[in-house]
Amino acid sequence: MLLNIAVLPGDGVGPEVTDQAVGVLQTIAAAFGHEIKLTRHDVGGIAVQKCGIPLPEDTLRACLSSDAVLLGAVGGPGFDSLSRQLRPEAGLLRLRRELGAFANLRPAACLPGLEECSPLRQDVVAGTDILIVRELLGGLYFGEPRKTEGSPGQRVATDTMHYREPEVERIVRVAFELARNRRRKVTSVDKANVLECSRLWREVVTHLAGEYSDVHLEHMYVDSAAMAMVSRPADFDVVLAENMFGDILSDEAAAVVGSIGMLPSASLGGRIALYEPVHGSAPDIAGKGIANPIGAILSVAMMLRHSFHLEHEAEQVETAVASALSSAHRTRDLARAGRPAISTSEMGARITTEIRERASVAEHLAAHR
Ligand code: NAD
Repeated sequence: MLLNIAVLPGDGVGPEVTDQAVGVLQTIAAAFGHEIKLTRHDVGGIAVQKCGIPLPEDTLRACLSSDAVLLGAVGGPGFDSLSRQLRPEAGLLRLRRELGAFANLRPAACLPGLEECSPLRQDVVAGTDILIVRELLGGLYFGEPRKTEGSPGQRVATDTMHYREPEVERIVRVAFELARNRRRKVTSVDKANVLECSRLWREVVTHLAGEYSDVHLEHMYVDSAAMAMVSRPADFDVVLAENMFGDILSDEAAAVVGSIGMLPSASLGGRIALYEPVHGSAPDIAGKGIANPIGAILSVAMMLRHSFHLEHEAEQVETAVASALSSAHRTRDLARAGRPAISTSEMGARITTEIRERASVAEHLAAHR
């Protein structure tokens, strides 16, 4: 199969973790006989520096003519004073919108052996396996009007939370369909006791749940969900949330399972999907070679599964990650105090070695069958 992938490393640790994810893609392609075409493009702060805008037209064109997009991260303190349209994050929001990527899947699982990496008690975090399904193109991040008016000392800022019924319907269906291949439970998160958007959200979810009688539905207010996420995380299966609530809860889920560096994501819904780790550009550790590349690498597994339907190859990546971690290899974010840590590239190399070794064992067994 030809894998035609647009790679957008972005800013901060983005290029560091993306390099490792690309290494994994190349290893998978070589091991399983796929042809790979990778083209690199600028997005975010680096694009602002080179072209004056965070999503140059040639980057967007390249994404739209690829089969899938792999992104690192965007942003950084050097860009914080730019106007809203020029900020790196504006480039990412526009890319998601242009791709039509309305369904953001963020799995957060506590891998066996990593219970000690959670700030929670091991008996609380053990067995945690959550899939956050976040609506990605609506709500406060896109609603208009958004503005700041008035003179200093008297300014008024406005953001708009806005949801149309079809926008809610399509993400609800994604959550229920995915729940059918998991533990058949959906927790829909809202703030229906206060917000109009949440009342509409809850009505649509409740109505559609009738079509999925094999899936158990519960509603939870977002504040209550935030509390339950740390007190009994293993109770969640699929968490369905609007854009901002999903953004916040997925960072919380990341901390619960050990590190935000571990979490991958897939943004689906359009013809071409976008894959990126959940974390940002991590300016505090950028350039040090210590970022955890696993979120980016597991994003590649999601790409193989969702864009190319290469389930076996996706599982090989996930198995290699689990295997590298079970051998007690830890990047700085996962290592316990005083314990040694390996670098970003060493973790990438461990994982590619695992993939290669497993593939060659499988080849040997097949040849002697
Ligand atoms: P962040 O995710 O970049 O960092 C939060 C904390 O997690 C930091 O302590 C960081 O060191 C750590 N961390 C993040 N990724 C890590 C990794 N791979 N390995 C180990 N530790 C890791 O969030 P932030 O500090 O709030 O934001 C920094 C910048 O990133 C901002 O400009 C923000 O707008 C941007 N951002 C971008 C995205 C994205 O590109 N999708 C997402 C979130 C934030």
